[in-house]
Amino acid sequence: MSYLPAETPFPEPAPWEQAFWDFCGQRSLRFQGCARCGVVRHPPMPVCASCQAFEIEWLEAEGDVELFTYTIIHHPTHPDLVQATPYNAALVIFPRMQGVRLVTNIVDCRNDDLRIGMKLSLVWEEPTPGRVLPRFRPRV
Ligand SMILES: [Zn+2]
Repeated sequence: MSYLPAETPFPEPAPWEQAFWDFCGQRSLRFQGCARCGVVRHPPMPVCASCQAFEIEWLEAEGDVELFTYTIIHHPTHPDLVQATPYNAALVIFPRMQGVRLVTNIVDCRNDDLRIGMKLSLVWEEPTPGRVLPRFRPRV
């Protein structure tokens, strides 16, 4: 069972975001890096905000993952999410990846047990076939 209902609508990725989701489909979490200056960024963008280069590389996420911040959603933004409330929406940070951040959900954790700075482990969810989402759970 997935953290949020499988029928929850999913935004259509922009063309420059598609590779991120394709890697997720292979259960590989990769962030876009600038092939010229090395800046890591997320969400993916077609051009580097630092040096304006178009050349990119996809870097496998590495190192610890920490809970940067979160909120608890009590009023769902879509009818399909009513049964999931209250659920968390989290921003996790990858310190060894230049502090790149990812919006996600923390699973296998009561909302009251969420703590900013807690260490997390990546888990993959596939709520519907072919839609693979990166989620995180407290690291044991
Ligand atoms: Zn750059």
